[in-house]
Amino acid sequence: MRELDTDILILGSGGAGLFAALHAHKAAPGLSITVAVKGLLGKCGCTRMVQGGYNVALAREDSVERHFMDTIVGGAWLCDQELAWKLVTLAVERIRELENELGCFFDRNPDGTIHQKAFAGQTFDRTVHKGDLTGIEIINRLAEQVWARKISRLEEHRAVELIKTPSGDAIAGVLFVDMRTGEYVFVRAKAVLLATGGGPTMYKYHTPSGDKTCDGLAMALRAGLPLRDMEMVQFHPTGLLAGTHTRMTGTVLEEGLRGAGGYLLNGAKERFMPRYDPKGERATRDLVSRAMFSEIGKGNTSPHGGLYLSMAHLGPQKVAKDFKGMVERCADCGFDLAGGLVEVVPTAHYMMGGVEFAPDCTTALPGLYVAGEDSGGVHGANRLGGNGVANSTVFGAVAGDAMAAWVKDAGLREPDRAAIDAAIEACERPFRSGSRENLETFRERLYDLMWEKVGIVRDATGLLQAQADLNALDRALDAYSLPSTERTFNLTWHDWLNLKNLVAVSRAIAVAAAARKESRGAHFRSDFAESGSLERSTFTSIRNMTVSMKPVAFTRVAPGQTLLRHVA
Ligand SMILES: Cc1cc2nc3c(=O)[nH]c(=O)nc-3n(C[C@H](O)[C@H](O)[C@H](O)COP(=O)(O)OP(=O)(O)OC[C@H]3O[C@@H](n4cnc5c(N)ncnc54)[C@H](O)[C@@H]3O)c2cc1C
Repeated sequence: MRELDTDILILGSGGAGLFAALHAHKAAPGLSITVAVKGLLGKCGCTRMVQGGYNVALAREDSVERHFMDTIVGGAWLCDQELAWKLVTLAVERIRELENELGCFFDRNPDGTIHQKAFAGQTFDRTVHKGDLTGIEIINRLAEQVWARKISRLEEHRAVELIKTPSGDAIAGVLFVDMRTGEYVFVRAKAVLLATGGGPTMYKYHTPSGDKTCDGLAMALRAGLPLRDMEMVQFHPTGLLAGTHTRMTGTVLEEGLRGAGGYLLNGAKERFMPRYDPKGERATRDLVSRAMFSEIGKGNTSPHGGLYLSMAHLGPQKVAKDFKGMVERCADCGFDLAGGLVEVVPTAHYMMGGVEFAPDCTTALPGLYVAGEDSGGVHGANRLGGNGVANSTVFGAVAGDAMAAWVKDAGLREPDRAAIDAAIEACERPFRSGSRENLETFRERLYDLMWEKVGIVRDATGLLQAQADLNALDRALDAYSLPSTERTFNLTWHDWLNLKNLVAVSRAIAVAAAARKESRGAHFRSDFAESGSLERSTFTSIRNMTVSMKPVAFTRVAPGQTLLRHVA
């Protein structure tokens, strides 16, 4: 095993990881900072895939209070209000930093102000964007800035375990597999940031990048950290549905399409959303996904078993101009987005749940910080489109500042060597002899059971069965043996590690979903269809697979109140 030391270790190079690196370096340029990432820096994760854009209250007629209220109401009153407040206020600073310091070009109005477009679930058009491929602009500029600084990189290094000190009182470092050689690497660090980006890739239809398999959340669960709101998985209404032969199926068609006035049609080519919600297609993602699920359940579907997205009534030329990237993506799969119909299906997109954390990004484990999609509490029961990249960049920067301050007085700590040995032993399991079943069959089992029993509509029977199925799947994975003992880029080994983590986090989702006996935001129970009292809202906190319900603190505004003086 190779061993390295660094002051600050950042896991992941999305918006959260790269902002943390830049801010820590700016705060203390003498620190050794290492970004370790499963893929290549600047080329992986979901921030790069951001399409629609970034929510921020910039316009004179808008306000951070209004953005805050939209976030709280959209989150069905489950948000940690201090985190949400930090999100909306610091998003203003962060977007200026992205433009003025880091060199991002966002779309502008003729008068030179930044153009902001409509996103569903918001009372004001506040989504900053670069066409419909905003994330590429953000990540390219961030990566360039990181490359230009003395920041170390461990690329194609997969974090496999958070390692504590022997007494367990703090984090000592992280164990990795160097994917290029298969060698184990232990990195000791004074502070570690978990920014591996969650990613609900355990569902049959999903949007996140393939490198994301809930590794950070699984490591946090194994380290005994509390995770909140794990039952809250967001389904995006418009996943592309292009058949089983293509991995384009499940990828997202951006929210701005519905924001701009796109229609959803059923198999009979009839618009159905107004029957479900007065906001029609511009209702929040949870409502639209559920309405679609219901329409699909009636059997009135498109050829591949989904529904249609229709934009042509807005003018094909305008659609082609405003949504160039989306039009090209659909054309690649044989659909004419500008002038025809595109088959769509709800698709698992985002996890509102994650590691519990404080507004300075500290966690229950001293020395461990969290930011971005690995963290929980910012979005409550439902994330507004455009608040995801704001979340990762805002809290990534906060974490960078906080870690730089913290490591000044911290030393490197000795790791629990027995814990390293145990983690290596766990990774080595599939190299032993065992069953030779095709790993794809395990993946399909996971996809189907999560989609059917822990998906858009849930009930007690299905959730109980899902837990039993997940336990059986975990045991089957433990009995699995790899076809090749080669370690260099052994992607089947990494798939096995991915599946182990996905199953662990899926169990947390199923257990939390069984504990929440009401319907709220993204979590819908057909056996408890009503939402409980907003005033007595509780969030789920899961630790070592035991759930407790904790009261939400209404630190800034209580249900029935608003921070807005003039409500439109
Ligand atoms: C298709 C798509 C479109 C989206 N559009 C929008 C939008 O328009 N607006 C919006 O606000 N949000 C959008 N989102 C959500 C948004 O992308 C995420 O909320 C946000 O970018 C997450 O940032 P992050 O830094 O937490 O994670 P990511 O950007 O996903 O980065 C995670 C990083 O962790 C690395 N990693 C993972 N596992 C390991 C491991 N074991 N060891 C080391 N490294 C690891 C990954 O390789 C990656 O570098 C979209 C998401 C998708 C998938």
